[in-house]
Formats: sequence, C-alpha cells, structure tokens
Amino acid sequence: GAASGQIKAEAVRALSGDASGKKSEKFEFKAETSKLLDIVTNSIYTEKEIFLRELVSNAADALEKLRHMQTAGEDGKVQTPEGELRITLKTDKDAATLTITDNGVGMTKEEMLENLGTIARSGSKAFVESHGKDQDVGKNVIGQFGVGFYSAFMVGKELEVYSRSAVNGPDAVGHVWRSAGTDDFSIEEVSNEEMGDFGTKIVIHLKDDQKEEYTDADRIKGIIHKYSNYVGFPVMVNDKQA
Ligand code: ADP
Ligand code: MG
Repeated sequence: GAASGQIKAEAVRALSGDASGKKSEKFEFKAETSKLLDIVTNSIYTEKEIFLRELVSNAADALEKLRHMQTAGEDGKVQTPEGELRITLKTDKDAATLTITDNGVGMTKEEMLENLGTIARSGSKAFVESHGKDQDVGKNVIGQFGVGFYSAFMVGKELEVYSRSAVNGPDAVGHVWRSAGTDDFSIEEVSNEEMGDFGTKIVIHLKDDQKEEYTDADRIKGIIHKYSNYVGFPVMVNDKQA
C-alpha cells in the first residue's frame, strides 16, 4: 500500500547475493527508529526482563489473529497449523540464544518491512522526537511508553526474526529479518525446509552480560509467571509447560 511504498522510498536498499545465491536486501532504519534503538540498546534501565512480556504479548496477538480468522469463517484463507496454537521458548547456553516461537498468523516480507522497520507506537515516536537520548530519557521511554518488539535489544546484540505468513496460501515462503539494532536491517528469503511451520520465530543472540540470566530456564519461567499469566495460549519453556 501507500505506507510500504513510503517506507521503501525512505529506506536505502542494497542487493547482495550470499554464497547460496539467496538475495539479502539491506534497509536502513529511519532516523527516529535509530534514535529509539540507540536508547534501548544502551539503556541502563534495570528491568530488562520486560522484553519477554513484550515478545510473549506479540506472539499471543499473532495467535489470537489466526484464531479469530479461523472462527470468523475465514479459515479457507488461513493455513491450519500443525498441532495446537502455542508459544514456545527455548534456551541454548552454548549458542547463548533465547528463541521464542509462535505458530500464529506470521508476517509476509512486506509486513516485516513495515512492522519491524518503523516505530509502530505513536507514543514512543513522539517522545523520541521531542527529547534527546540521555539515560534518564531512556528510562522513561522504556518504562512508561513501552517499546514493544525493540525492547529485545536491551538483552540481545543481534536479533533474527523468521516469519512465514499463514494467510498467503500453503506455498507462502518465509523470510528472515536480521539486525544488530544499529543503523540497518536485512531481509532474506528462507526455504520452507529451514523455516518449518507457519508463524514466527525470534532468535535473540544474547549480549555477553545477559546470556547467563536469559539462558536460565527457571528465570524465564519466573518472568512468564510474573507478567504473562493470563496469556490464553500454552507457553512452553524447553518443552515443558511454564
Ligand atoms: P505493537 O505490539 O504495539 O503493535 P510491537 O513493537 O510490539 O508493537 O510490534 C510491532 C508489530 O510487529 C506488531 O504490531 C506486529 O504487526 C508485528 N509482530 C511482532 N511480533 C510478531 C509475531 N510474533 N507475529 C506476527 N507479527 C508480529
Ligand atoms: Mg507488542
């Protein structure tokens, strides 16, 4: 639509092929998004754990959207996921990653570009525009306005978002969005063998000073119980109900 055209016009794109011949496209974040990312990434905000509430709430929204489409009789359009609708968390100490997966509605490439490339929340956008990037501001913007998806950059040095839309037919291909939370992000196609089921998988490559804490399954369960008790879908941590 008009919005995505605008984003594309404002983003600097570059095409490059990797060894496998797959095209990786690079996009620059807009200035206000970079500013917010800078605040989030360098934040001294101590309650970093809230990133998990944000990611679980996004996963639950995606599952709710899929369920709604199914019950609203739009099930001819949406793919039926393998197994029950659920949110899955996996910790990997060796790889220093925390991965959150949902088999919800997923995103097309265009949706990733739009939803993960710009500040969706008008509150944080206005706040960033009218303030500098000093540490106190960072505290306020994160605490009061919430920064949604971007809050994962408080604990992650790099994020990978794999997503495959469930509303684009059974042959829809997935894409991976990657960013280190600085000036740019990339989007690349992923084969369905690598991607698997429809939905979204977010791999957080943890910062060195965060990896101990957020690869601890009991710590993850504790945060889930603290903030996400009322999520209407099962939440699994390392294959066990949280
Ligand atoms: P908000 O949830 O307030 O819209 P976020 O920053 O948390 O803002 O997320 C931005 C957008 O990215 C969401 O609105 C949604 O469109 C998309 N998104 C994020 N996570 C997922 C997910 N797991 N599945 C599908 N879409 C997602
Ligand atoms: Mg959200």
